[in-house]
Amino acid sequence: MKILFLAMSGVRVHDPALLELGLTLPGFVERSRVIASLPSLGLLTLAGLCPEGTEVVYREMDDVPCEVAATEIAKENFDLVAISSLTARIEDAYDLAERLRSEGVRVVLGGLHATAMPEEASRHVDAVVVGQGEPVWQTLLDDLRRGALQKTYHAARASNALSDPPLPRYDLLDIERYNRLTIQTARGCPWHCHFCAASRLLSDYRKKSLAHIRRDLDAIMEIWPKPFLELADDNTFVDKAWSRELVKLLGSYSIHWFTETDISVADDPALLDDLADSGCAQLLIGLESASPISLGGVERRDWKLRQFDLYREKIARIQDAGISVNGCFILGFDHDDESIFERTLEFSDGLGLSEMQITLLTPFPGTDLHRALDREGRLHRPVNWRKYTLFDLNFRPARMSERQLEEGFRWLMSEVYTPARTAQRKANLRACLRHRRQ
Ligand code: SF4
Repeated sequence: MKILFLAMSGVRVHDPALLELGLTLPGFVERSRVIASLPSLGLLTLAGLCPEGTEVVYREMDDVPCEVAATEIAKENFDLVAISSLTARIEDAYDLAERLRSEGVRVVLGGLHATAMPEEASRHVDAVVVGQGEPVWQTLLDDLRRGALQKTYHAARASNALSDPPLPRYDLLDIERYNRLTIQTARGCPWHCHFCAASRLLSDYRKKSLAHIRRDLDAIMEIWPKPFLELADDNTFVDKAWSRELVKLLGSYSIHWFTETDISVADDPALLDDLADSGCAQLLIGLESASPISLGGVERRDWKLRQFDLYREKIARIQDAGISVNGCFILGFDHDDESIFERTLEFSDGLGLSEMQITLLTPFPGTDLHRALDREGRLHRPVNWRKYTLFDLNFRPARMSERQLEEGFRWLMSEVYTPARTAQRKANLRACLRHRRQ
């Protein structure tokens, strides 16, 4: 059997004014490039589950038209092409899948979007994996061998795919192409932010064993002796006792790494102490909003709201331990009005962040936010998934016009990335790194 694992990532912003502005916003462009250049860990993991004797190929979808890619792929006689795609690239994935199928190649599609929209996806592909891929992959391959591929394969969200995870096939990568590799230590998140699809759609909160993480790290070190790793976790430090062990393990390797977490990491001094020594370069933390009223209801327990008054102090605690914080804000919550842009700027200026990211609220399918806006008739119709980029607007805001939100967002972007503010964040970063050396 010969299988192609094809990753389709890389998102293009649509708003032409923002696009033009983006050329002059180095911080924004750099982070977009990093995200676009990460390999798909989901596909590498499924490749690791293929039985011995299977010929497996991993490839990123190059920047070529779908018809060209489909013709080239069809010449290689794959028995199956497994595609993983983000919502913003899903139309391209559908287009490619249809062209491949017309050439007689069978196509399976999985990931967050396919899980949220299985009926839509199944109109374009031979089979859709709904939920995690690992629990159903073997059955799918058996069905393929028998010529009896089913239309959908459902994995229960409660099934623990991390209890005995396969080793991702890092060896398939053309390593020269990447400036970071991904490794997963945990999946899911116990918080339930209404805009977040990644945290719950595929799996309940699960952790990998340290032994499995060590195995994955060893495999990476074989192909890249001093790698930069991005943890493909939704929220890494949920379980603090396990996290302290994890960080010690990471610190025993010659690596630099980055991950996403919530601000409770600041509450564990032992964890913070070990983090800087472990090669942790930066933590990305969702601060979500500069307005407490907008933060209210973001998740059901309002834990994030209760952190609001502590943001400055907790960010200082993390950065004083020598770990840079990339604070993320979202614009367009229902309580946001035109004052939110200046408020975000003023609030973030006072936090001493060493990096900052702003995005537009995006109603990804499968989220509570998507369902609510759909019910209220506020989603842009007909839907244009290509605009689900985090930087393009896809719904009618509650307390301002669409134009006000888009213009305010662009204004905030240009202010956040002025040379003076960029220099200030770099100075904050240098101060943070000085703490690390003490
Ligand atoms: S804390 Fe982060 S990962 Fe968890 S639900 Fe909220 S946005 Fe998602």
